[in-house]
Amino acid sequence: MRRITALLMIAVLPLSAHAAVEVFACEPEWAALAKELGGPLVTADSATTALQDPHYIQARPSLIAHVRSADLLVCSGAQLEIGWLPALLQKANNRKVMPGNDGYMEASAYVLRVDATGNVDRAKGDIHPQGNPHVQTDPRNLVPISRELSRRLALLDPSNASVYEQRLEDFLGRWNAAVQAWETRAAPLRGKRGITHHKSWVYLERWLGIEEAANLEAIPGLPPTATHLSKLTAEFAEGGADFIIRSPYQDDRPSQWLSERIGVPAIVLPLTVGGTEEADDLFALFDDIISRLLGALDHA
Ligand SMILES: [Zn+2]
Repeated sequence: MRRITALLMIAVLPLSAHAAVEVFACEPEWAALAKELGGPLVTADSATTALQDPHYIQARPSLIAHVRSADLLVCSGAQLEIGWLPALLQKANNRKVMPGNDGYMEASAYVLRVDATGNVDRAKGDIHPQGNPHVQTDPRNLVPISRELSRRLALLDPSNASVYEQRLEDFLGRWNAAVQAWETRAAPLRGKRGITHHKSWVYLERWLGIEEAANLEAIPGLPPTATHLSKLTAEFAEGGADFIIRSPYQDDRPSQWLSERIGVPAIVLPLTVGGTEEADDLFALFDDIISRLLGALDHA
């Protein structure tokens, strides 16, 4: 009997190991979401870390190998990865994850993107002509995105469709409750004015009723210039801003420089999972973002 059990286990183990959907995420938030929705049925790694600028990374050989073996690719899209993803896809040559197939998903395509300009002159900087791609900073955006990601997992791994459905409902129940709690906690932020390094936070600001007073980048995607910082110093010397926000991978000098001159706290907010020690999953990400914003009000 024991021997039969052992034989059965040998027969079953490789199958279950094979059942996993391999997810290639461009950014850590989508890898984290895939793990929430797929649990042990998926493996998910991110091409970028929270300490890297997702607009600009190198198409390293290890990433090409990962795209080559992936079943599902999940990226923010809207040209956020235009500087590196097309080269990765071309070199990996994996039909499953090419645009137009079930294995290719642009998360931002499932939400209403803001600030689409239609302007394709990238010489003017990283202008995101298809709209702002940093959609993960509004947790409500993760509702339609998680529904679509779950649907893709079920398409690619139909034998586990009911598991994905169940995990999705469980996730959404916990997520929607968390969103309500965050909104209550963040109420003091309503009407506050933020200066942000890059236009990374427009969705968060719209969600919480924070006004974007200015950007440190005069041209989106290009480093802040001395001229522009001087202009901001004059503009906000007498007030008009409550905090200056940057992401962990951005140069801290422009925000510190301005902070000292206009007397407004400069803070680091995690743009995604792993951006701070506290932000170690999607729930902790928003817990930490709100804690840090509220902390800035206390120290203003
Ligand atoms: Zn951007």
